[in-house]
Amino acid sequence: MASKSCVIFVPTPGMGHLIPLVELAKKLVFNHGLSATFIVPSMGPPPKAQMEILESFPEGINYILLPPVSFSDLPDNTRAETRFILTVSSSVSSIREAVNSLVASNRLVALVVDLFGTDVFEVAEEFKMQKYIFFPCSAMSLSSVFYFDKLDKVVSCEYRDMPEPFQIPGCRVLVNGRDLPDPVQDKKNDAYKWFLHNAKRHYVSDGILLNSFVDLEAETVQVLQKREYGQPPVYAIGPILHSGSRDGFDESECLKWLDDQPRSSVLFVSFGSGGTLSLEQLNELAMGLELSEQKFLWVVKSPDKSANASFFSAQSNKDPFDFLPKGFLDRIKGRGLLVPSWAPQIQVLSHPSTGGFLSHCGWNSTLESIVHGVPLIAWPLYAEQKINAVLITEDLQVGLRPKVNENGLVGREEIAILVKALMQNEGEASNIRQRINKLKEAAVRAVGNEGASTKSLKEVVDKWKSKNQ
Ligand code: UDP
Repeated sequence: MASKSCVIFVPTPGMGHLIPLVELAKKLVFNHGLSATFIVPSMGPPPKAQMEILESFPEGINYILLPPVSFSDLPDNTRAETRFILTVSSSVSSIREAVNSLVASNRLVALVVDLFGTDVFEVAEEFKMQKYIFFPCSAMSLSSVFYFDKLDKVVSCEYRDMPEPFQIPGCRVLVNGRDLPDPVQDKKNDAYKWFLHNAKRHYVSDGILLNSFVDLEAETVQVLQKREYGQPPVYAIGPILHSGSRDGFDESECLKWLDDQPRSSVLFVSFGSGGTLSLEQLNELAMGLELSEQKFLWVVKSPDKSANASFFSAQSNKDPFDFLPKGFLDRIKGRGLLVPSWAPQIQVLSHPSTGGFLSHCGWNSTLESIVHGVPLIAWPLYAEQKINAVLITEDLQVGLRPKVNENGLVGREEIAILVKALMQNEGEASNIRQRINKLKEAAVRAVGNEGASTKSLKEVVDKWKSKNQ
């Protein structure tokens, strides 16, 4: 009997990259009769959270863990994005070996990488697989990636110093250079060169699977699909999100606490798997939440100078509660609950007591908030999160963005005012709530049986199947 068509996935390190790829693989296996194998490069022993995901793969999805690459010769200040790209590019020969071990017993149809993994395309070409990118961010970000080569040629200063905002093709709002992703904010850093390299490589893929949906970013998706810059076909197939519980973390306490709170009364505060605040900022946030007099559930990580200190592990090394202001825990008793490092975010956002989300604007968190109709306070930290914050607050208008003061901090008063406005439905907040509820309905439609995203994914699968018969 002929084997099922198999799709190879190569994720770059980080939970935010792995989770949506796994969910896409599940759709391919459960809804389209394909099989999937994850070939997983790593830069050290795999983090616990990652192993839990790999080990709980359902039938039809397998994984091969590659030997870790060594980065002992990289300078300490090497950016995360450089490490992602080098992890994959240094693993190309072991990826080739892994693919070779599958070729005899599988009909390999496509290789899917994420946005930092385009160096693996050479392996796809050798084994005559189609080469696709799963783009785990917004259409706005994808458009900026395609536009980046041009920007590089015409902008001679650092982007953060650009005097005027500019338009990313297809986007309704202007962005400032300082809102472009972190890795491009220092042209002298190697991350810039690597980002540009990967951006250019997006053009050589056979197609891009975009984790967004037409009704969310209609104009941008349309412009991308016109392919005016010679882009490959773009398929909006989102929202693709993980659906539920993860083992190994104490999930019960915060959900039980939410059960006892009034409807829509709790602000969920979380900066994703990797986001960390400085000690000073952590202190301001604590005081701001206290001043707001609103209920909150806060996933606290120990402070760090770097904004993405826990990206690879999702866990704090030190007890985060030790860094909170004196007496804080006593003062907020009954009104606020703190959880160290990790919370079951999907269950929290889908809980009826949750009424707002102060988020770092990671794209998965943004989509999860939209899918559950929870309005946002947009507090971007790193990566492409500032572009997401622009999309959330200025284009979609489903969130409020706090101002950063002259010391580079979001001050306690600013936090308290925004939290109160959002949770009490004051002023613009009630419009925000209505808008996000409309998008919630559109998200459900997009991935329904007749939805645009469902149809787009089927189109891709049909293409894969037909080319490899
Ligand atoms: N997440 C979670 N609990 C946490 C932090 C994060 O379940 O305490 C999940 C969240 O639901 C999302 C992913 O981890 O699916 C984070 O992805 P995102 O793109 O928002 O941010 P990143 O962590 O990649 O910066």
